[in-house]
Amino acid sequence: MDLLTVGTYARPADDDALRALQPSLGPDRAVLGGGSWLFSAPQHHLAGLVDLTALDWAPVAADADGLTLAATATLATLADLDPSSFPQWPAVALFAGCCEALVGSRKIWHTATVGGNVCLALPAAPMVALAAVLDGRATVWTPDGGVRTAPVVDLVVGAQRTSLAPGEVLRSIRLPASALRARTALRRASLSPLGRSAALLAGRRDPDGGFVLAVTASLPRPAVLRYPDLPTAEVLAADVDALGAELRWYDDPHGAPAWRRAMTLRDAEAIRRELGDGA
Ligand SMILES: Cc1cc2nc3c(=O)[nH]c(=O)nc-3n(C[C@H](O)[C@H](O)[C@H](O)COP(=O)(O)OP(=O)(O)OC[C@H]3O[C@@H](n4cnc5c(N)ncnc54)[C@H](O)[C@@H]3O)c2cc1C
Repeated sequence: MDLLTVGTYARPADDDALRALQPSLGPDRAVLGGGSWLFSAPQHHLAGLVDLTALDWAPVAADADGLTLAATATLATLADLDPSSFPQWPAVALFAGCCEALVGSRKIWHTATVGGNVCLALPAAPMVALAAVLDGRATVWTPDGGVRTAPVVDLVVGAQRTSLAPGEVLRSIRLPASALRARTALRRASLSPLGRSAALLAGRRDPDGGFVLAVTASLPRPAVLRYPDLPTAEVLAADVDALGAELRWYDDPHGAPAWRRAMTLRDAEAIRRELGDGA
C-alpha cells in the first residue's frame, strides 16, 4: 500500500552514505529492508524511509569460523543455498525449513530480508528461530559510527520489541561453525496449513552430544534451552513448561495460550526424539 505520510526517501548506495543517514533515523524515519511488512499496513507515524536495497552487502559470506548473513539477504537467497556446498556444516539444511516457516509466496521470499524479519520481531519470526538455535550473534551499527554485537536472542525482547536504539541498524548475523556442525530439526504448528506459526521450535544436536532447543512463536520472545547431553522427556517437558510460566504463552488470533503450550510440548519432544535417534 502507499504510505501517504512518507515525504522523504533516501537510498544510500554505500556504507558511508548509510552511516551519514543513521543519526536521522528515529520514530518517524525508518529503515526499509524489503518492505514486505512496512508496505503491508498503514504507518501513520512515518515521515521518511532509508532504503537498504542498494547496499552491496554480500548476502552470505563463509569462512573457516562460520557464516555471516547480511541483514539485506533475502529469504529466497537462504532458501536456495545448497546444503551440499557446506558438507562440514549440516545445520545449513535448516535454512530452507526456516524460510518455509514464513508461509508466503516466492515473491515475498524474494523481498523479505533477514534483517527485516529479525527487527520486526514478530514472535513467529523464523530468522529469529534460526539465529537462536545456531547461537547467532547480531552486528549492529550504532548512529555514532560505532559497532556493537549482541546475541540475537537478546536483541528480540518481546513481541515486536527489540533492544535496538533509535538510529541503530542491524548489519549482519554471524553463525559460528561450532553450531553449524550440529544436526538440526524443526517443528512448526499453526491453526491452518498456510497460517502463521503459533509454535516454531528448532533443535540442534552437537557432535559432542550437546542438545539445544530454541522455542519461538509460542512465547512473546525467543527462549533457548541448553543441555550437555540429550535430556530425558520429563526434564525437557518441565523446562519447556517453565519457560511458559516465566514468559507467558503467547496469545493472539494465531493460537490460544493453552493450545500453544500443548503444541510446544509436543514439538519439543518430537525434536528430542529426532535428534536423539529415537531415544
Ligand atoms: C504473506 C506474508 C506472510 C508473512 N508471514 C510472516 C511470518 O510467518 N513470520 C514473520 O515474522 N513475518 C511474516 N510476515 C511479515 C514480514 O513480511 C516478514 O517479517 C519479513 O521478513 C520482513 O522483512 P522485510 O525485509 O520485508 O522488512 P521491512 O518491511 O522492510 O521492515 C520490517 C521492520 O524492520 C525494520 N528493519 C528492516 N531492516 C532493518 C535493519 N537492517 N536494521 C534495523 N531495522 C530494520 C524496519 O524499519 C521495519 O520496522 C509475513 C508477510 C506476508 C506478506
